[in-house]
Amino acid sequence: MGKIIDGKEIARQIRLQLREEVQTLVAEHGITPGLAVILVGSNPASQVYVRMKKQACAEVGITSFSHELPAETSEGALLSLIDTLNNHPSVHGILVQLPQPAHIHPQRVLEAISPDKDVDGFHPRNVGLLAIGAPLFRPCTPWGCLVLLQTSGIQLDGQQAVVVGRSNIVGKPMALLLLAEQATVTLCHSHTRHLAELIAGADIVVAAIGRAEMIRGDWFKPGAVVIDVGMNRRADGTLCGDVAFAEALPRVAAITPVPGGVGPMTITMLLKNTVIGAGRCVA
Ligand code: NDP
Repeated sequence: MGKIIDGKEIARQIRLQLREEVQTLVAEHGITPGLAVILVGSNPASQVYVRMKKQACAEVGITSFSHELPAETSEGALLSLIDTLNNHPSVHGILVQLPQPAHIHPQRVLEAISPDKDVDGFHPRNVGLLAIGAPLFRPCTPWGCLVLLQTSGIQLDGQQAVVVGRSNIVGKPMALLLLAEQATVTLCHSHTRHLAELIAGADIVVAAIGRAEMIRGDWFKPGAVVIDVGMNRRADGTLCGDVAFAEALPRVAAITPVPGGVGPMTITMLLKNTVIGAGRCVA
């Protein structure tokens, strides 16, 4: 029977550590880390995420600056707010909650955030730095996946890793992070042929697809390690991942559950990036 990787507990431990780091920054340098969160419009799921981020900041002692703007806010007004926050000395991290209204160009917004405050790691400069192996900020979800593997003592060096999903926010940066840890990485997507065979050869599988339980338990090599990023809602309202968890559990060495695996790590790594950003301001 595989081990269940407890993302909630690992996230809790990291947040305790972050709390201490924040206390040290305040006591020794007079710096309180600050995270600005911008939400344009009133998407209910985004409102929940923004509230969770604010609560998480409060928990570790980070000051959150919340900017909840009406849906009709112009792109110019948003860019001007970002410019103000780029120059605000108490703000060490800026994030614009996705998705944004259709009249706002997402790439223009990403590029407006100072790379030094880009705690999501989505600015093209930060994407490039990650690609050349010199990251300034690692994107939160894939970094959270990597930390789950590392904290669980999983060997990465020389291992065969298969990442399913090539989005800019999860799959692609995940592949780069695993590559930097000396894994041999195969990046799969919707045009990949023979996905089951590729997964059968993998020591580590990261699933970031968005299709409920698409990866079946018998696809895995016995003893594989599985990180399931997927968050899908079943018809009965319950959540599930991209992997058929109950089928996979008896076969694999370790696997993350959904919920309670990758999810709690994403916001935790956002807090960590904000503390790192603040730490860089120490004279
Ligand atoms: P995207 O929709 O941006 O990307 C999905 C990827 O899956 C694409 O690259 C797509 O391929 C690939 N894909 C789709 N169908 C198949 C298939 N049949 N076989 C192989 N690959 C396929 O999703 P995200 O990366 O944003 O998110 C992925 C999942 O992770 C979602 O369930 C999302 O909710 C969850 N998520 C969870 C987070 C957390 O904190 N727990 C954070 C972020 C995401 P192609 O490029 O060819 O279209």
